[in-house]
Amino acid sequence: MTQSCWQKKIEASKIQQVDVAIVGAGICGLSLAYWLKLKSPQIKIALIDSQEVASGASGRNAGFYTAGSTAYLANLAIKSGELKAAAYWDFKQESLKLMKEHLFTQFEAHQEFWGSTTLYRSDRELEEHLMILQRMKVTNLKKISENELGFSGLSGGLKFENEGRVNPIKLLTELKKFLQEKGVLVFEHNAVSWAEERGDKVQLVCARTNIEAGHVFLALNGYAGEFHPDLGKWVAPKRAQMLALDLGGKVLNGNYYDPAHKVYFRQDPTSATPTLLVGGMRLLEEVGENSNFDKTTSVIQQALQSYAEGILGQKMNVLARWSGIMGFTQEEKPYVRTAPFIKHTTFVGGFSGHGMGLAFGTAHEAVARFLSVPTRFKDILPVE
Ligand SMILES: Cc1cc2nc3c(=O)[nH]c(=O)nc-3n(C[C@H](O)[C@H](O)[C@H](O)COP(=O)(O)OP(=O)(O)OC[C@H]3O[C@@H](n4cnc5c(N)ncnc54)[C@H](O)[C@@H]3O)c2cc1C
Repeated sequence: MTQSCWQKKIEASKIQQVDVAIVGAGICGLSLAYWLKLKSPQIKIALIDSQEVASGASGRNAGFYTAGSTAYLANLAIKSGELKAAAYWDFKQESLKLMKEHLFTQFEAHQEFWGSTTLYRSDRELEEHLMILQRMKVTNLKKISENELGFSGLSGGLKFENEGRVNPIKLLTELKKFLQEKGVLVFEHNAVSWAEERGDKVQLVCARTNIEAGHVFLALNGYAGEFHPDLGKWVAPKRAQMLALDLGGKVLNGNYYDPAHKVYFRQDPTSATPTLLVGGMRLLEEVGENSNFDKTTSVIQQALQSYAEGILGQKMNVLARWSGIMGFTQEEKPYVRTAPFIKHTTFVGGFSGHGMGLAFGTAHEAVARFLSVPTRFKDILPVE
C-alpha cells in the first residue's frame, strides 16, 4: 500500500544506508540474512517487511519439515526423467540437512523428525512409485502397510523417515532474535512500494523508513507480482486454506499427504488441546484460490472437515480456520533470478508449497551466487 505525504511518518524522509536490503521477512528473507551474516559478518543488512516477521505464508503453514511427497518426486521423474528428478531431490535433501545442522542445533522450534508418509489408494501406483524411487537410489524411504497406517480405504504408504514437523513461528522468532543480536536491522510495518536506481545504489521507497542499498534481495514469494508485474510472470499467487480440529483422544505420529485429494494433515502434539491440522483441497475452487487475498471459504473448509472426519472415523470440533498465500512457479521449483526491471536486485522465491524445507537451501544458493562462491547446485535452480 502506498502512502500520501500527509500519512507518511516523519522517519520516511530519513534514508537508512546498508550494503544489502532484503524485502520480505518470511523463512526466505530470514534465511538470506542468516547466510549473508555467516559468510560475510561485516555486511550491513536491512530486513524489511510490510507487516511483521512471519506474517506471510511462513507463519501460516502446516509446519511440515519436508522435501515433498513421494508422489511428487515419482511424477517428476516420469515427467522430466529420473536423472533430473534425482538432482532436484538431492538439492532438497541438502536444504533439509542445512536446516538441521544450522537451525535445529541452535534454536528450539518444537522440531521432531517423525517422518512424512504419502498415502496410496492403489497397490499398483504404490509399487510403481516405489520402484522409481529405488532406481533413483532415494534413501530414508520405507514402505508402510495398510495395517500400520490404520486409516480406512488406503492400500498403504511410502514414508520419508528423515522428515518431520516444526513450529514455524517459534523458528522464525528465534531466528529474528539471533539476527538482531548479530546487527541485522529489522524494519517491520515498513512496506516497500517502489525501488529506483540512485547512482550505483538502489533506493527502496518505504512506508516509514526509506532504505538505500548496494544490493537488494526480493523475498516476496506469493506477493511478488503485487510488487512488480515482471515478477508476476514468474510466480503466481495461490491461496491455501487450513483447518485445526479437536482430535480428542486419538494420537497421530507423523506427517501425511494424500495426493488423490491434495490434502495434508498431522497432529500438533504441542498444543494444550490435542489438535489435528489439515490443509489442501484447493483444486475444488481452483480459479478463486488463484489469489493473494487472505480468506477462508465454506466449500474448502467443509471439504477439509469431511475428509478428516472420514479418514479418522470420528466427528471433530473446529478450533481454528485460516489461509495463507503460496507462490508457484511453472516448474514448481524456486527461482534465484536477477530482476529484469532494476539493477543490483535478485528475486529469490517461488517455493510452490514447500518453502519451510526449501527456502533455507535456496537462500544458501542465492548468497553463494551473490558472493561468487561456486556450489554443486548451479544448474538445478532456474536462473536467467
Ligand atoms: C496454508 C499453507 C500451508 C503450508 N504448509 C507448508 C508445510 O507444511 N511445509 C512447507 O514446507 N511449506 C508449506 N507451505 C509453504 C510455505 O509456507 C511457503 O513456501 C514459505 O513460507 C514461503 O516463504 P517466503 O519467505 O518465501 O514467503 P512469505 O512467508 O510469504 O514471506 C513474504 C513476506 O513478504 C512480505 N511482503 C509482501 N509485500 C511486501 C512489500 N511490498 N514490502 C515489504 N514486505 C512485503 C509479507 O508480509 C511476507 O511476510 C504452506 C503454505 C501455506 C499458505
